[in-house]
Amino acid sequence: MDVFLSFDVERHSFETNTHDNSTGADSVIKRIENDAMPRLLQLLAEYNAKATFFSTAIFAKNSPKTIRSIVLAGHEAACHGYDHDDYYDALSLEKQIYFLQKSKSIIEEAANVPLVSFRAPALRINKDTVRALESTGFQYDSSVSSQRFDGPFTSGAIKKLKWLTAHRKPYHPDYSSPYKKGNSTITEVPVSALGWPFISTHLRIAPTITFAVQKLLMLEADYTHKPLVFLMHPQEVLFFQKGKMAHSHNSRKTNFFSGELRHALKFRNLGDSCFELFRKVLHNCQQHQANFKTIKEVSL
Ligand SMILES: [Zn+2]
Repeated sequence: MDVFLSFDVERHSFETNTHDNSTGADSVIKRIENDAMPRLLQLLAEYNAKATFFSTAIFAKNSPKTIRSIVLAGHEAACHGYDHDDYYDALSLEKQIYFLQKSKSIIEEAANVPLVSFRAPALRINKDTVRALESTGFQYDSSVSSQRFDGPFTSGAIKKLKWLTAHRKPYHPDYSSPYKKGNSTITEVPVSALGWPFISTHLRIAPTITFAVQKLLMLEADYTHKPLVFLMHPQEVLFFQKGKMAHSHNSRKTNFFSGELRHALKFRNLGDSCFELFRKVLHNCQQHQANFKTIKEVSL
């Protein structure tokens, strides 16, 4: 069974539910650099597990040390957009190319190796993303989550209904739609889901359901050779004080369900409990003869 562990490395703060613009020792970026990342790299080493770290360019610019430590430990450094507010499903082909080029070169400077894999901020892409990735030298994408159903709880929820019909195994997407099989040179590595997504946010909110989903995904892998693709954020292993959600630019447009309730759920099992839940995900994989790979090591 092939397992792709992936981390989205960004400066999102659970306290304010926005970007953390602070620069001090207690900023999210510094806490990831000094606390979350060393612990996670150590844990991955214990399981001899390779992972892929999709970082925003702003994160890489402010913490090149983190990106270097990822590469030095044998993991894959990859791109997660410029600053997480470049939503590719709302951008023209030209704008996507502009953001991809800019982000790629900033992260490559920190990593000191070429980047070939991309995951869109908030997993938001459109039909032009495939061409934009090809023309900026990317070879792999992991922005689709086949058969994941979020209801109204996620950004760009309506467009994400297309996930329901996307292929489960890695595939070459079509130029007309990233959710269809086609002839592009990009390899899509979909994040695992069975209605319920196999990601750390949902692992923290409902561990029992997520571990049940992991069991089913591992059984599926035995029969179809579909790999497991898990998504996590490094700052989830940090402790955050639950404060009042900042009234961000879009708070007026959101309702209670996608705003305050979602914010409250996101505080569940943060910090050490998230770390231990992730250890259990790794343990379950190991018990199932996992072959941990980075995204660029995928084979079709
Ligand atoms: Zn992200």
